[in-house]
Amino acid sequence: MEKLETVIGLEIHVELKTASKMFCSCKNDSMSTEPNINVCPTCMGMVGTLPLLNKRAFEQTVLLASTLKSTISRHTKWDRKSYFYPDLPKGFQISQFDLPIGQGGEVFFPFNNTLHSVRMTRVHLEEDAAKSVHGVDKTFIDFNRSSVPLVEMVTEPDLRSAEEAKALLKAIRRLVKDLGISDADMEKGQMRCDASISLRKFGEEKLYSRVEIKNLNSFRSVESALKYQEEKLKTEWQSGTYPEMASTVLWNDERMATYPMRTKETAADYRYFPEPDIPVVKLSEEAITCLTKDCPRLRKDEFSKLIEEGVDLIKLLSLLDSTELFWSFADLCKKMESKEEKDLALNFYITEVPLLFETYGSIPFSEDEMLLLIKKVNEGIIPVSTAKKFLSSCKKNNNLAKCINDFETLVCSEKVDLSQVVTNVLSKNTSLVNQYLVGEEKVLQAFIGLVMRETKGMFSGREISDTIHKTLEAMRQQKNK
Ligand SMILES: [Zn+2]
Repeated sequence: MEKLETVIGLEIHVELKTASKMFCSCKNDSMSTEPNINVCPTCMGMVGTLPLLNKRAFEQTVLLASTLKSTISRHTKWDRKSYFYPDLPKGFQISQFDLPIGQGGEVFFPFNNTLHSVRMTRVHLEEDAAKSVHGVDKTFIDFNRSSVPLVEMVTEPDLRSAEEAKALLKAIRRLVKDLGISDADMEKGQMRCDASISLRKFGEEKLYSRVEIKNLNSFRSVESALKYQEEKLKTEWQSGTYPEMASTVLWNDERMATYPMRTKETAADYRYFPEPDIPVVKLSEEAITCLTKDCPRLRKDEFSKLIEEGVDLIKLLSLLDSTELFWSFADLCKKMESKEEKDLALNFYITEVPLLFETYGSIPFSEDEMLLLIKKVNEGIIPVSTAKKFLSSCKKNNNLAKCINDFETLVCSEKVDLSQVVTNVLSKNTSLVNQYLVGEEKVLQAFIGLVMRETKGMFSGREISDTIHKTLEAMRQQKNK
């Protein structure tokens, strides 16, 4: 059987979070509970109205394109993309054809425990269509979404699996959220994706006709639809019926299958022509610098930096999709010198801290408290198991620092002599000691458990095990004399 390679490219649409719509002053709120309240003649596509470009949407797209390493066009224009749908009654969508805001670029994203990259083709700005709401025997149109600013990011066909496509999509969602330009909530339709998939023989450069899956609106459906289509194409390839023409399909989440939509339009079918009512936007080098200089902190940059500093990639990945947990950990790392401390903190951040965050909706300790805890654990003053206990019992506004201080006071006041405890435990368990002395070293574990119980978490497992080992070895030497 021929070895086949899957080729996937994405078109990712993200609704921008501006106050007003793309070409009119209506409120940008497609999720309003009442339909058709954020509307005017312009966004309802009435004849004789004039669009006015939303400056903020333009600026946000320039910022996004620059973080995707796209070249920002010095000249940008808008074009009419003609097609008719009931939810686009003016018969065309205002989009960008040959002079998009960003051209080229590259995104790095973690996948399969390493950093992958995908080349960007373009980043452009357009308007969203209205929304069709299907009733029992009628279809209604809600124009609240009509003309909401929509950014389209098109990638080169560099992705090789459904899982990789999903990982890229997640990276894009993190990016637009970090930039503060979209909430990118897929359930609310703020982020959607069209995925194109084709096959080729392994090692070939050529691209075969592709199937475009339209309007995928969850991470799960992106992955399932691509996997389904991949299998279908493989069967067709093997039976010699691989499609000769590009086609467009829709994904049905309930049936878990795609079904044909229409043959794929080409640029000629869309009859693009320059939008006569919006002037060309010219950007000077200074203007581009000015628009891109105040970029917020991005998780993708901080992630790469932490990996370079030796932080465990796989563990860090599990924090990446939570803005709060990721930044809390990253900020903490800035204040920690040693790798040991960072490793300790990361272990707490992937086990105890997410549970706390889930319970309280926020992190119930301060950065200083966490730093103190890590320091005490690293110095061997507080055993890891005790630190975990402190964290698990942490309540909202509960003072973690107090737990740490109380513990230290307790340890000091009791002044427990570990060697004394060990000697006592050993003398009460002479048969175990004898087993050890004849070479059954596994009984050491039993001793550690007994001493831990006696000392109630005052000493670390390492300290206890060292002391027991030392005492037993001394006994062995005594015996051999
Ligand atoms: Zn309007």
